Amino acid sequence: MSTDLTFSTLAALADQLTASEVTSVELTQAAIDRTMAIDAQVQAFNSINPEDALVQAAASDARRAAGEACGPLDGIPVTLKDVIAVRNQPLTASSKMLANFVSPYDATVTSKLKDAGAVLWGRANLDEFAMGSSTENSAFKTTRNPYDLERVPGGSSGGSAAALAAGEAIATLGSDTGGSIRQPAAFCNVVGLKPTYGLVSRYGLAAFASSLDQIGPFTRTVEDAAIMLGVIAGHDRRDSTSFKTEISDYRAALQTKQGPWKLGIPKEYFGKGLDPEVAAAVEQAIAFYRNQGCEIREVSLPHTEYCLSVYYIIATAEASSNLARYDGIRYTHRAADAKDIVDLYFKSRAEGFGPEVKRRIILGTYVLSSGYYDAYYLRAQKVRTLIRQDFLKAYGEVDAILTPTSPTPAFRAGEKATNPLSMYLSDIYTIGANLAGLPGISIPGGFSTSGLPIGLQLIGQPYAEADLLAIAHSYDSAHDWASRRPQL
Ligand code: GLN
Repeated sequence: MSTDLTFSTLAALADQLTASEVTSVELTQAAIDRTMAIDAQVQAFNSINPEDALVQAAASDARRAAGEACGPLDGIPVTLKDVIAVRNQPLTASSKMLANFVSPYDATVTSKLKDAGAVLWGRANLDEFAMGSSTENSAFKTTRNPYDLERVPGGSSGGSAAALAAGEAIATLGSDTGGSIRQPAAFCNVVGLKPTYGLVSRYGLAAFASSLDQIGPFTRTVEDAAIMLGVIAGHDRRDSTSFKTEISDYRAALQTKQGPWKLGIPKEYFGKGLDPEVAAAVEQAIAFYRNQGCEIREVSLPHTEYCLSVYYIIATAEASSNLARYDGIRYTHRAADAKDIVDLYFKSRAEGFGPEVKRRIILGTYVLSSGYYDAYYLRAQKVRTLIRQDFLKAYGEVDAILTPTSPTPAFRAGEKATNPLSMYLSDIYTIGANLAGLPGISIPGGFSTSGLPIGLQLIGQPYAEADLLAIAHSYDSAHDWASRRPQL
C-alpha cells in the first residue's frame, strides 16, 4: 500500500488528497517509511527532516479540513537538491565547505513551493557544488542508481533523480548547468526539465556558473512536470537574470496544444560514442512521432563539436569567480590552525573543497587570467553565440529538436571517476541547450537489454515550454516506461 502511494504521480495524488482518499500525513509517512527502508542502499539524501515534514503535512491536512483554499501541491512531499536554500534547513552543496551551514532564508522556488502547499522533505545529494555527472563527487556519500546499485544515478542532481525513482518523494527539484537535471533523469527513468534560462528564479541557489544555471523539476510524468513548472516559474526582482514573460497554464497546454509538430533530428548528435541501444530508442521515438503525423527533418547544428570546450571554459571561469566567496571567514569551513589571514584563506579552501571543485577553480582562474582571457574566455563567448545561432536557425524549420539525452545508459560507479574527460563526455548532448539558454526535457524512452533506463531529450524554443511539454506529453502519455519500478 505505502509504496503504491509513493510511486503515484503528483497529479493522481493531488486528486486523492482533494477527494479525502488519503491524507498528507499518510502520504508523507509513506515517503518517510520508504526512505527508512531503502535509502541505506540508494543514499539519495544528505539529510532528512521527518518530524518537521509531518508537521507540515498535518498543517496541510488541517487547511483542507477547514475548507481553506489549497495550493496545487498541497500536502505533496517534494525533495530539494541540497543547493537550494530552505530557511532553517542545512544547505551543504555536498561540500565540506558548507557541512555545517544552515540557511537563514528561503530561495524563491522554496517560497513558491511553500505557497503551493508542498511538504518540503529532505535534502538530496549531488556532486559537490553541482560539478559532475555521477554524484560521485559528493563529499559525503555516493548515491546509487535504483535500477542497478552498482551504477551511478547520473549527476549532478543524482540524489534528486534517485530519490524520485526509488519512491522516496513524489517530485523533486534539481539544477542544470550542463545537463544536471536531464542526464540523471535519463539514467533513473524519470522526467527531468531544464527550463529556458531566466524562466525560474535562481535566488537562493548556490551558484555554479551563473550564465548557465537553471532550476527545474524531476517528476514521474510530463504532466507532473507541467504542474511543477507552473508553481516555480515566474519573474523575480531578486534575480536580475529572471525574465518578464507571461507564464502559461502549462498543464492546460498539454490538452490545448495538439500536433502534428515538426521535429528536427540534429545529424551531429548521432556519431561516434552513441550506444546502439540508445540510438534504437531514439529511432523508435522518431517512428512514434511520424505515426502521429509529425514531420521529421534532419537539421544541422554545425558548432556542436565545440560545445564541450566552450562549456568547460565558460562554466569554470564563472565557477572560479562564484566560489571565491567561500573564504573561511564567514559561513564556510574554517581551518583551525592558520598563522594569518592569507594562510586562513589557503588552508580553509584547501580543506573545504574536493578535487573536482579545485580542478574547476584552477581551470577557470587560468582562462580568465591576463593574457589568456582573449584567447580562451572571449573566444568561447563568441563560439557560444554561434552555437545559439545554430539552434535558432534550426527553429526556422522545426518546432523542437529530438536527441538522445546521454550517449549511454548509466555507467558503473568508479568507471569514469579517475578520468575527468570521459566523465565530461557524458554531457555532450545536454550542454548545447545550456549554452544557448534553451529549454530541454528528458523523458523515459525505454530500457536497454540489461534493464537500464534510456532517456529521450527534446529541446525547445526559448520560453516555449508549453509547446515543449505538449510535444513530450504526446510520447510520454502513450508509453508506460515510467511505471517500471526498480527492484529494491
Ligand atoms: N556534468 C556537468 C559538469 O560537470 C554539468 C553539471 C551541471 O549541470 N551542474 O559541469
